[in-house]
Amino acid sequence: MTDQIAFAHSVAEAVLHRFGPLTPPWQILAADLDTNVFPSPFLPTSVAVTLGNGRKPEIALYPLITDTETAVTELAGQIQDHVIESTGGLALPRCPGHQHPMTARVDNGTAYWLCPANPTHHREPIIPT
Ligand SMILES: [Zn+2]
Repeated sequence: MTDQIAFAHSVAEAVLHRFGPLTPPWQILAADLDTNVFPSPFLPTSVAVTLGNGRKPEIALYPLITDTETAVTELAGQIQDHVIESTGGLALPRCPGHQHPMTARVDNGTAYWLCPANPTHHREPIIPT
């Protein structure tokens, strides 16, 4: 579980880094097992990553009950939603040469940022290699 928490934290860091400099800057405030279900007789089903830019903290979930690549896209997509909302609708991360943001999706077993209009136009791994 500790490994999963540390991994979810590192994914959140990579996602925030990919957005570039944000004003005000976003920070990861906490990463821990989802307290909505833990402690309880059940295993926690997510790592909750708390992050924000000095205003209201937001929560993005890294699900533990799916495969790693799907969990990475879930977390990236939730962070993206929070960041876009906080910026009033900036296209982040922007698709190169297009006006829209990229979409987090699993393709061929890897978690990518993809062009939502044409996946062959641009794609890059969410976790830089
Ligand atoms: Zn595009």
